[in-house]
Amino acid sequence: MTGLDLLAKTGSRGLFIGGQWRESATGARFEVRDPADESVITDVADGDTHDAMAALDAAVTAQAGWADTPPRERGEILRRAFEAIMDQADDFAELISLEMGKTLAEAKGEVGYGAEFFRWFAEEAVRIHGRWMQAPAGGSRLLTIRKPVGPCLFITPWNFPLAMGTRKIGPAVAAGCTMVVKPAELTPLTMLALADVLTEAGLPGGVLNVVTTSDSKSLSATLMADDRLRKVSFTGSTPVGKVLVRQSADELQRVSMELGGNAPFIVFEDADVAAAVDGAMIAKMRNMGEACTAANRFLVHESVAREFADLLAQRMGSLTTGRGQTPGTDVGPLINADAVESVGKLVSDAVQDGAELVTGGEAPEGPGHFYAPTVLLGVSAEARIVNEEIFGPVAPITTFTSDDEAIAMANATEYGLSSYVYTRDLARTVKVAEALQFGMVGVNTGLVSNPAAPFGGVKASGFGREGGFEGIEEYLDTTYVAIPV
Ligand code: ADP
Repeated sequence: MTGLDLLAKTGSRGLFIGGQWRESATGARFEVRDPADESVITDVADGDTHDAMAALDAAVTAQAGWADTPPRERGEILRRAFEAIMDQADDFAELISLEMGKTLAEAKGEVGYGAEFFRWFAEEAVRIHGRWMQAPAGGSRLLTIRKPVGPCLFITPWNFPLAMGTRKIGPAVAAGCTMVVKPAELTPLTMLALADVLTEAGLPGGVLNVVTTSDSKSLSATLMADDRLRKVSFTGSTPVGKVLVRQSADELQRVSMELGGNAPFIVFEDADVAAAVDGAMIAKMRNMGEACTAANRFLVHESVAREFADLLAQRMGSLTTGRGQTPGTDVGPLINADAVESVGKLVSDAVQDGAELVTGGEAPEGPGHFYAPTVLLGVSAEARIVNEEIFGPVAPITTFTSDDEAIAMANATEYGLSSYVYTRDLARTVKVAEALQFGMVGVNTGLVSNPAAPFGGVKASGFGREGGFEGIEEYLDTTYVAIPV
């Protein structure tokens, strides 16, 4: 078996609606390209608004029966799907690597991480409970009942084609919700393979519907205008998130938004600099920097900045860039030509403004959308590169002289998703972690993502949490029952 064989099993790269694979109403298809050489991998059905409606109809039809399915049964379907993904981890990794570009090792990491959301929520499915209490004044009893919110729409991005799906699908399945999933048009294949896995694990038809489309805007506008849709969970850019939140107002759908980030990576003067460089390599280079949690700004105390920059440049400069499936590749291609151009422009602007290019700074000749791992030192706090999401393998370093200055610089962004702190001082750790206006703080680590932890942001990074005990709350409503006795 290979990654693409996972798709051959479906017999189609069509739309998955009501438990059946089918073509789009118009018969239209769109191509999926390999970012390493721009060749066409395959094509998939290009769903339109009629297809989207058919998917919502299927989700609505399945909702009541699914909500009535015993929690243990829902959990066991997720558990079986977790095991099936892990059994086929190499194939899933290859498929992810092929359509998205990341190395096989990283793709395998995503498979494990993504599958864990199914295991975690398999365990959460049987721990949904309300409460029973006496009213403070006595007499009445107050009962709360938790119910699934109902049919959901999930819109996922291209950077983690599996994990961004499983962390929405897992809790929705556990809570008893049905759903329409719209994967990113750049990387739709993994979601199709996942639909097969869930079906084989016993998920009834209509609970999960997948509509691939090249016109996400029309799909979401149509579905969100329908009051039968009760929830939207989106992972992607902040501008699109804002459009969706506005759209959700008409039918007052519940919304979870996991949007952009501008993560600071703060290295204090007492930090273990070598460990900070190890962490920086992960926080920066995971997914070629194409992650909303990616360290976007390195704020380093001036006394260790040179040492940190040189060590980081050594590590970054020795990485091998290439096709994700080729053995020995450390860094795959960026997702498309626009990504390379936008990263290149941020770097050249910073250099023009006086930043020192310690390593990298160029885009190798095509084919393929590659950009060399890059380190910039002496970047001004006003530079565009530290105020916008880079989404590429570039580490801009800015220096600071006091804790207060570091905290102020870190918080001087509209975003508030991930942040990273390197220090050996416990009191400083607590003070800084409390002062950072971010949904997540990594202390002496470059990796915060964990299915058992609440992932999410504040400010322009959105709201709602995925994973942890909090993750399932996004998919549950509360009914309060007053019982006078
Ligand atoms: P990214 O920068 O990660 O591509 P986007 O926000 O553009 O972020 O895309 C994330 C997801 O949102 C993708 O599935 C994409 O198809 C979808 N999308 C993009 N624009 C819109 C829109 N206007 N309405 C609904 N979905 C959209």
